[in-house]
Amino acid sequence: MKNIVIVGGGYAGINLLEGLKKEFQGQIGKSVRIILIDKNSYHLKKVLLVRAAIRDINLKIPFSEYCQDGIEFIQGEAVALQKQNQQITINIGNEKTGNLHYDYLVLAFGSVIKEIPKDFGGITLKDRQSAIEIREQLLSLMESFKALEKSQQNQSLFKVAVVGGGIAGIETAAEIAVWSKEQLTEAGVNPNLVEVLLFDAKDRLLPEAPEKVSEKLANHLKNVGVVVKNKTRVSHCKEGQLYTNDGQKYAVGTCIFNPGVEANPIISKLGVSMSEKNQIIVNHSYQVKDEEHIYSIGDCALIADYKNNHPDGMTCKEAIPQATRLSKILKASISQTPVNILHESYPVKFFCISLGPNNGFLWTQKWGLDFTIAGKLGAKIRNYTWELASLQK
Ligand SMILES: Cc1cc2nc3c(=O)[nH]c(=O)nc-3n(C[C@H](O)[C@H](O)[C@H](O)COP(=O)(O)OP(=O)(O)OC[C@H]3O[C@@H](n4cnc5c(N)ncnc54)[C@H](O)[C@@H]3O)c2cc1C
Repeated sequence: MKNIVIVGGGYAGINLLEGLKKEFQGQIGKSVRIILIDKNSYHLKKVLLVRAAIRDINLKIPFSEYCQDGIEFIQGEAVALQKQNQQITINIGNEKTGNLHYDYLVLAFGSVIKEIPKDFGGITLKDRQSAIEIREQLLSLMESFKALEKSQQNQSLFKVAVVGGGIAGIETAAEIAVWSKEQLTEAGVNPNLVEVLLFDAKDRLLPEAPEKVSEKLANHLKNVGVVVKNKTRVSHCKEGQLYTNDGQKYAVGTCIFNPGVEANPIISKLGVSMSEKNQIIVNHSYQVKDEEHIYSIGDCALIADYKNNHPDGMTCKEAIPQATRLSKILKASISQTPVNILHESYPVKFFCISLGPNNGFLWTQKWGLDFTIAGKLGAKIRNYTWELASLQK
């Protein structure tokens, strides 16, 4: 029996499981053993972290939902590799460790949010805990604001700063603006007193798209109450003031950082080949450089298109097709049938951004033409892709 061990049940890991279930139908637990390892007992719907910072929603799906039909799950943190013996060391809590043998090991550790120096102030949206802290802080600010408004002592706007204009930053700013307006409307306060400032160092949002698409997006953001400050680098945030490198300062209730992601630092402890940005170097069939038995997909791997060597980004739309192809590659390797499956970049340019629970913005480019969809339909497509990525029907 061949052991396939997958480390990491994020989007890459669960979609690989799904692919393997199809490829090895009827053989799991007989000719092949499939084991998923994750430090958590649940798959985290990471793409919804932003919404969890604003609303009370469930982001956890227990791995028991994915590990059926003979697939095994071990909760533990992978901490080391013994490549000569084909074993992975797992910390299973209470200072206990164990070694697990693999014939095929798939590293899908994902990424972590970049660290912001503590003296920058504000809160970084990096995990479930920080999402909860942000929500509590926003609620408390909102309560104080409403009380001031009611006592007619208020002179200012309800102002929140979001720093970092990637997709997560855009979505955070929009979610906060929509939620704040809802809160004020419910309390009978003028909703136009909300101002969410979105700071970004780049020239424009969504630089992957043509300029006119970025402008459209900025207009949609303006409509929900987000003011975009491009070409503006924030230096720090202290005592209700946000300071930028061009010498400006802004009074804000709170400041939320969305600094983007980087590869999981655990990788540097495994003794596998790494890129300059600490991603695992793999060939066009996801096999780790110089390692016969180890593969890697998702955010933790540096994966390039076999035709033009263009590297994949760190998103679900890239991780999911990688996982599907790898399931076929593993099947072919175990059944010793030659295949020539090589990595190709996602075929179309496509971005889908949430602008609150009932509003979204979608851009895609095909045949040199730009297509955008906004509003409720945009939100529907966005929600559908989120659910699909976590294999929820
Ligand atoms: C706030 C935010 C919003 C995003 N929004 C979008 C979006 O809208 N659309 C999109 O396409 N992408 C989005 N992304 C990017 C997307 O989430 C990632 O590309 C995707 O999660 C990558 O999947 P993955 O499986 O490689 O890694 P992850 O989803 O990060 O999963 C890694 C898994 O490995 C586990 N793990 C880590 N270390 C260990 C260890 N040592 N031992 C055992 N288990 C371990 C973790 O618990 C986790 O389950 C967003 C990211 C963030 C942070």
